[in-house]
Amino acid sequence: MALVTRIPSLSASCSASCSTANNQSRKSNSFRFTPVFSINCSLHSQETSPFTENHSVERYERDSWLYKYQLQNSLSSSCPVPPDLESIREYDIALQLPELKKLLEVLREKRESENRAQRRCPGNVFLVGTGPGDPELLTVKALRVIKSADLLLYDRLVSNDVLNLVCPSARLLYVGKTAGYHSRTQEEIHELLLSFAEVGANVVRLKGGDPLVFGRGGEEMDFLQQQGIEVKVIPGITAASGIAAELGIPLTQRGVANSVRFLTGHSRNGGTDPLFVAENAADPDSTLVVYMGLSTLPSLASKLMHHGLPQDTAAVAVERGTTPQQRTVFAELKDLADEIALNQLVSPTLIIIGRVVALSPLWHHVKKETSVLMEAN
Ligand code: SAH
Repeated sequence: MALVTRIPSLSASCSASCSTANNQSRKSNSFRFTPVFSINCSLHSQETSPFTENHSVERYERDSWLYKYQLQNSLSSSCPVPPDLESIREYDIALQLPELKKLLEVLREKRESENRAQRRCPGNVFLVGTGPGDPELLTVKALRVIKSADLLLYDRLVSNDVLNLVCPSARLLYVGKTAGYHSRTQEEIHELLLSFAEVGANVVRLKGGDPLVFGRGGEEMDFLQQQGIEVKVIPGITAASGIAAELGIPLTQRGVANSVRFLTGHSRNGGTDPLFVAENAADPDSTLVVYMGLSTLPSLASKLMHHGLPQDTAAVAVERGTTPQQRTVFAELKDLADEIALNQLVSPTLIIIGRVVALSPLWHHVKKETSVLMEAN
């Protein structure tokens, strides 16, 4: 409960009109929103991203939080000096709290009237993987659960196309993280999940790909189970599988690769060289799939080659895989980091290294030139 009481409500009138917002259709929202802080105007190309950005008008509109103060402060047309990220975060949370409290109350009352004669049980918490972006890669089970949710907490890598499948009556809450900006801390996410589960809500925690592959799903599950809340996990197609399928790469082709290894390029301590595993990962008979590996690839690639992986091993980096904005850079391992830099790939990008990459029908182009960039459109 702590999160919904920690920060005092900024406005009583904001929560008073909450139910009106709940009844709005997500797509035909009639509120006139303006972003609280227009920092997005120079930082991102909102039009082209298939994923949610930290501060985007599209997200604010879709999620339909009231943002009363946005109506008063029309900052959208100008591009003011960005305030510090912590202030934005606190402001976002404070604006949402009255509505979250109101939603909790509504759900509590609904539950009390439905269950008056019955023993009260907590609601369901579903940890749902949404796949790498293409909404058609959702499982049937995920779609069913998404459509019956009261509240959905979602990460940055849940694509906008997937979020558009959510029913207008459900509330969406962004809890995403990108380097340097955490819209909610992990503890706050835990508290939100718990608060809503306790009042009997159907709470859905959406995560890109599979929730248990580099998704911190295990930690959320563990926390809730310790509080006596049952968590049901619905697997998703992890980026490695979805993207390999898209490019026609058989991750474990018989006679070419006898294993596949999912590796994180991210350093927990923020360092640039966490890749102590490179020595035993430099195996020509294995496929390496690197998640979150953009910044550490130069170091990983040279370590892999140093430990014996041939320089001409086929490799590919895929930005925004399985979405209409997918961009793909194929290159030999020795050239991959330079080609990624040249083509300015951004997160999310997945890297696949191994002889199986050369089995992709798209690899043949690489024979003619040293590397090749392919765009989806
Ligand atoms: N749980 C997710 C992984 C989360 S870690 C899963 O199972 O796929 C985030 C990393 O996943 C990104 O930095 C990127 O390396 C990779 N990733 C996820 N979706 C992606 C996509 N659509 N395109 C490219 N890489 C993706």
